[in-house]
Amino acid sequence: MFIDARTVETGSHIETDLCIIGAGAAGITIARRFIGTPVRVAVLESGEFEYDEQAQSLSEAPQLGIPYEPLHVARLRAFGGTTGHWAGVCRPFDEVDFQPRLGVRYSGWPISLADLQPFYPEAAQICGVRSGEWGLQEWVARDRFAPLPFDAARISTRVAQVAARDLRRFGTRYQKELKQAGNVVTFLHATVTRLETDLAGTSGTSAQVATLTGQRFTVAARQFVLATGAIENPRLLLVSNRRWPEGLGNQHGLVGRFFQDHPRFVAAMIEPSSPRIPVGFYTTHDVGDSTLQCYLSPSRQIQMIEGWMDVQLRLSPVYDEHFMRSERSADVASLRSILAALKGSRERDGAVDLRRHVRNVLVDLSGWQRFTIPGAPVPVPYPEIATAWWRSNERERESFLPGLVGDIAAAVYNEYVGAPISSVLVLPRIEQVPDPDSRVVLLAERDELGMPRVACDARLGEADRRNYRRALTLLGMEIGRTGLGRLKLLYDERETAWPDDLTGGPHLMGTTRMSNDPAEGVVDRDCRVHGMSNVYLAGSSVFPTGGSGTPTLTLVALALRLAEHIRSTMQ
Ligand SMILES: Cc1cc2nc3c(=O)[nH]c(=O)nc-3n(C[C@H](O)[C@H](O)[C@H](O)COP(=O)(O)OP(=O)(O)OC[C@H]3O[C@@H](n4cnc5c(N)ncnc54)[C@H](O)[C@@H]3O)c2cc1C
Repeated sequence: MFIDARTVETGSHIETDLCIIGAGAAGITIARRFIGTPVRVAVLESGEFEYDEQAQSLSEAPQLGIPYEPLHVARLRAFGGTTGHWAGVCRPFDEVDFQPRLGVRYSGWPISLADLQPFYPEAAQICGVRSGEWGLQEWVARDRFAPLPFDAARISTRVAQVAARDLRRFGTRYQKELKQAGNVVTFLHATVTRLETDLAGTSGTSAQVATLTGQRFTVAARQFVLATGAIENPRLLLVSNRRWPEGLGNQHGLVGRFFQDHPRFVAAMIEPSSPRIPVGFYTTHDVGDSTLQCYLSPSRQIQMIEGWMDVQLRLSPVYDEHFMRSERSADVASLRSILAALKGSRERDGAVDLRRHVRNVLVDLSGWQRFTIPGAPVPVPYPEIATAWWRSNERERESFLPGLVGDIAAAVYNEYVGAPISSVLVLPRIEQVPDPDSRVVLLAERDELGMPRVACDARLGEADRRNYRRALTLLGMEIGRTGLGRLKLLYDERETAWPDDLTGGPHLMGTTRMSNDPAEGVVDRDCRVHGMSNVYLAGSSVFPTGGSGTPTLTLVALALRLAEHIRSTMQ
């Protein structure tokens, strides 16, 4: 059932068994696990079904450190949370992701892959990934593309899958199920502004709820889960300071620290020895009903032996500009409109202007005649055209094609043969070295509900720089060894500033890290806040390190594990 919190009378006191704060990927996953059980669940969600600017403004948070994407853009305040606009790229963590790295302080999780492995298959389905298969060889056997022939002891290829578009938005996909659930009540427009505890400060007692239209009420529960994302989870703990002035779970000053992302930028460019460099496996492409987006990274042996964090190396081919111009041309757009009309779909602005489109297509398809001698019994090119063609090399010849045969023929060539590649951009995504100074901090300024705002002071250090540069050195060696071309670095090796196109933002992690030792973490291996008997955290804020893949699949697997744990404590 859904309830609009703006209809709840101020001063109401609602009682439930389990209170989940936040209905994003983590919160919805946990709530669904309790459907049909005797446990009464209240889900408190700050947003509504659709994007709402006023609710979204509660997430505004300035950047104090490296310039990332603005934080209110990197998160969504709506039912379904940030999955309302995530890209859906998924890959489970490997065993190594959970292990400490040689000489890297704070690395290593208190759980291992074996703890999450049972939950990954269901997590994949929940995220909208069509296959539970992640092994390279299994995909290679089915794919029309092949991985690059690199020495796997140096540079390995990893498979990531992209969740299906129609399955990836949690808010759309799971709305009906939660609406029909008799024992789960989801309050929309319900922002939790603090968590209250008992006198000892060791148990959560109630959540204080506020709406933007002025209602105030409380929700008391036996167990609480904060699932508000990696910026709001620490914010809620820090503002819940009635019993503990420094905030809940913050006896060791760790709440908000160790903020991480997967920072990324264009660092290098492969200048291929052939325009047919085989990088199709690393582009987003379909294999059966699945979509793959694979990438390279330094081998796990090297990472473990030398104490590196992971670096994902994404490849982005830059296609010959002549072909790209053809792809964007009005004639190709006309052909697409005609094909769409034949399929029965209509143009956005109403009926298809068929005559105009057919004229465009016919003129384009006959355009090659301009280069041939008129009246000849078979097409004979003018001598200067023929000479230019024979004098050109393989790369130049392909570039001529769109001009000679027209945009439509070039687009068809592109579709079935593939446009020639002029270069391949290399974008590292860095698994950051855990840094306590990279952090979310409370500000004196308050939001519309009177809650202190937060700022993010994101840092990157010398060790992060060393890691991605070492990864690129390995990649350069392999490109040279295999004769695929040469790697051109797009930075000066003496340069210590981070590049202007450095960005991050979508993978917010690490601000309430997991550790068995309360002096080194905010939650224990069960995601329970140290020192609190019944307050749990869900989401990537508990990640001690950011891992080699994207975070959502793993945080959903962790949420399933947490739901199981809470269910066992409630029996
Ligand atoms: C552009 C973009 C692309 C991305 N692409 C990928 C990708 O390809 N792969 C990947 O793995 N990840 C990706 N992500 C990250 C992914 O979206 C997040 O990892 C995931 O949504 C986090 O889930 P969550 O439940 O922890 O938080 P969220 O999904 O952010 O949900 C948190 C919920 O809590 C609510 N809330 C916040 N504060 C309060 C409060 N005080 N009271 C009540 N409710 C509150 C919010 O309204 C929200 O609904 C991307 C993110 C962005 C922005």
